[in-house]
Order: sequence, then structure tokens, then C-alpha cells
Amino acid sequence: MFDPTRPLPERSEQDWSQTLTPEQYHVMRERGTEPAFTGKYWNEHRAGMYRCAACGAELFSSETKFDSGTGWPSFTEPANRAHVELVEDRSHGMVRTEVRCKACGSHLGHVFPDGPGPSGTRFCINSCALSLDPGKAQD
Ligand code: FE
Repeated sequence: MFDPTRPLPERSEQDWSQTLTPEQYHVMRERGTEPAFTGKYWNEHRAGMYRCAACGAELFSSETKFDSGTGWPSFTEPANRAHVELVEDRSHGMVRTEVRCKACGSHLGHVFPDGPGPSGTRFCINSCALSLDPGKAQD
């Protein structure tokens, strides 16, 4: 049974399947990828804070969002580095760096070393893993 008071890392996959949409479950719990140019945020330009769609953690500010042309929402850096976890991903015959929500362990997307900002990083994130909190770009 889903217990909302259970600590996030201890939630079972059955818990998550009851609180996420099927697309969100596939991307966030099975490390899937939504098709490019299909998500709700790749062409989003409103100001605000993008939160984890699973747990609400503050992940990315609209201030770091840029148009990458990839069809996925892209950011130069997280709102708070401590809120994301970076994990080596050797699936699909590539070596990539997976981005996860630190609080709940959900898959968000990948980070690539070809970003436009001073950090040189591009956080390529699935729209369905995010929930925009409009109007509040930073605390
Ligand atoms: Fe989360």
C-alpha cells in the first residue's frame, strides 16, 4: 500500500506506479527517455522553479534554461548541486552521465559536456520528470 509518510528512498516501485503517470513511471523509475519535441517544457519560457515531478525537490531554475535545439528542456546547471546525483551510465553502448533526483532517486535525464555557460555543461532533462512552479525562479 502506498504510504505518503514513508521516506522517499524507501518507497517501493509499486508506490511510485500509483503516484506517477505511466510515462513518468517509465522515464523516472525505468530510466526511459521521452521522444524529443513531445514534452511540455522543451519550448517553455516562463520564469519559475522546475521541481521533481515525483517528490517536489527544487531542481532547475528557469534562469539557467536555454534553447538547445534538442527537443528536451536543457539547463546549464542545477538550482542546487546537492539536489541532484550524477551516475555513470554505460547503457545503449555509450558512456553518459545520468542525472537523478538526490531526494527520491528518480531518473531525470543526462548531463553532457557541451553546454553554453561557464560550466560548459548541458543538463538534458525529460519534461515529464519536471513540474514547473511558475514565477519563482530562485528562493
Ligand atoms: Fe525527486
